[in-house]
Amino acid sequence: MAQERLSIAIVGAGIGGLAAAAALRRVGHEVAVYEQAHAFARIGAGIQQAPNAVKVLRGLGLEERLGQLAARPDAQMNRVWDTGEVKWNKPMGGPMADDYGAPYFHLHRGDLHMALAEIVPEDIVHRDRKLVDLSQDADAVTLRFEDGSTAQAEIVIGADGVHSVVRQVLLGVEKPQFSGRVAYRTTFPAALLGDVPIDDYAKWWGSDRHIVIYYITPNKDEIYFVTSTPEPDFTTESYSAKGDLATLRKAYEGFHPHVQAVLAACPEVYKWALYVRDPLPRWGRGRVTLLGDSCHPMTPYMAQGAATSLEDAAVLSRCLDGIGAGDVARALRRYEDSRRERTARIQTISRLNDMDRIREETDRTYRYDAWTAPLAPMPALADA
Ligand SMILES: Cc1cc2nc3c(=O)[nH]c(=O)nc-3n(C[C@H](O)[C@H](O)[C@H](O)COP(=O)(O)OP(=O)(O)OC[C@H]3O[C@@H](n4cnc5c(N)ncnc54)[C@H](O)[C@@H]3O)c2cc1C
Repeated sequence: MAQERLSIAIVGAGIGGLAAAAALRRVGHEVAVYEQAHAFARIGAGIQQAPNAVKVLRGLGLEERLGQLAARPDAQMNRVWDTGEVKWNKPMGGPMADDYGAPYFHLHRGDLHMALAEIVPEDIVHRDRKLVDLSQDADAVTLRFEDGSTAQAEIVIGADGVHSVVRQVLLGVEKPQFSGRVAYRTTFPAALLGDVPIDDYAKWWGSDRHIVIYYITPNKDEIYFVTSTPEPDFTTESYSAKGDLATLRKAYEGFHPHVQAVLAACPEVYKWALYVRDPLPRWGRGRVTLLGDSCHPMTPYMAQGAATSLEDAAVLSRCLDGIGAGDVARALRRYEDSRRERTARIQTISRLNDMDRIREETDRTYRYDAWTAPLAPMPALADA
C-alpha cells in the first residue's frame, strides 16, 4: 500500500487502461481515467486470455467471475488449411492449467471489458474526453482535451492504443505501419452452424492467410472467428467497419469444408486493419509513461496484445507501490525496464506468425506471472 497517495491520470479506458486503474487503486493511489468515446460498444469479437493474462485477472479478483463466462478449450488444433491435417495439437486443458498456474479462457471481448469496468468506480472514468496534448513540469503533468478542458496529475499513463497521442507527444510523430492484412471477425450463435463438427479451438494455417475459430461460452452456444487476410488496400480504422461476406468467403475458397461451413453460417462480419510497430527503445519521460498497444502494439497471432497490456498494469502498480512524489520518474523507468524486453520479444515473434517459433515461445509466455516476476533495479536519479 502506497505511503503517499499520488494522483494518476490514465488516458484510455480500454482493457489496459481499466486494468491499470484497478491495479493502481489497489495500491492506494488516486486515479482518474480519460476516455475519448461517449460509450463502450460491445462489438462482435472474442478474446483469448492465456494463463499469463488470467493470472493478472486473478490478482484483480476477476478470475472466478470470468471463469463462469468463458469457454475453456481442451486443446488448440493447428491444422493444414485444406486437408485438416493436425500439425500441432497443443493441450490447453486441466494439466496445462496446473503447469502454467492458471487456465486458458476464451471470452466475449465485451465481457472482459465490462468486468474490468465494473471494478473501477464509474465516477473516475471521464468519457468524451479526447486528449489532444500534454505538458509536464517538475511537479505535475497538464492534460489538454479536445473540448477545451484541462486536467492535472502527478503521473500520466498513456493507455490510448495503437494511435496513441501520448506516445506522439512524448516520442514524436511516427505512424504505426499497416501490415497489409486485415482481420475479419465476428461472433454468432453456434446453432446457425447446424451439426457441422468443429474443434473447440482451431487455427487453420494457409500459405498466406489463416483463420482461428473457437467457442466463447462454456456451453458452446456462441462461435467466434478471426482471420489474417491479405488486403493491402484496406486501411479503415474502425472497430465497427463491416466486412463484405462474399469477399471473405472467396478469400477462403478451397479451405477445409469445416472452415467454409463456418463462413457460410455467419450472418455478418467486421473488419479491422492490422497495424504494427517495431519495439520502442523507450516508453516514457519524466512523469509520463505508456502501457499496452500505445507502446507495444502487436499482431494478434499469439493472442498476447491484451494479455501483455494486463501484465503492464500489474507490473506498473508494483513499481508505484509505496513510491513517494520524489521517486516518480525513477519508478516509471523501473516499470519500463521491467517490461520492454518481454513485450518486444512477443511483438517480434507474433509478427512472424511462424508455428514453430510460437510453439517454442509458449511456455515462457504462459508461465510469466506479472504479480511476482522479478522487477528491474530502481534506476539512479540521473538515468530517470
Ligand atoms: C483482430 C484482433 C484480435 C485480437 N485478439 C486478441 C486475443 O485473443 N488476446 C489478446 O490478449 N489480445 C488480442 N488482441 C489485442 C488486443 O485487442 C489489444 O492488444 C488490446 O485491446 C490493447 O488494449 P489497450 O488498452 O492498450 O488499447 P485499446 O484497447 O486500443 O484501448 C485504447 C483506448 O484509448 C482510447 N483513446 C484513444 N485515443 C484517445 C485519446 N486521444 N484520448 C482519450 N482516449 C483515447 C480509445 O477509445 C480506447 O478506449 C487482438 C487484437 C485484434 C486487432
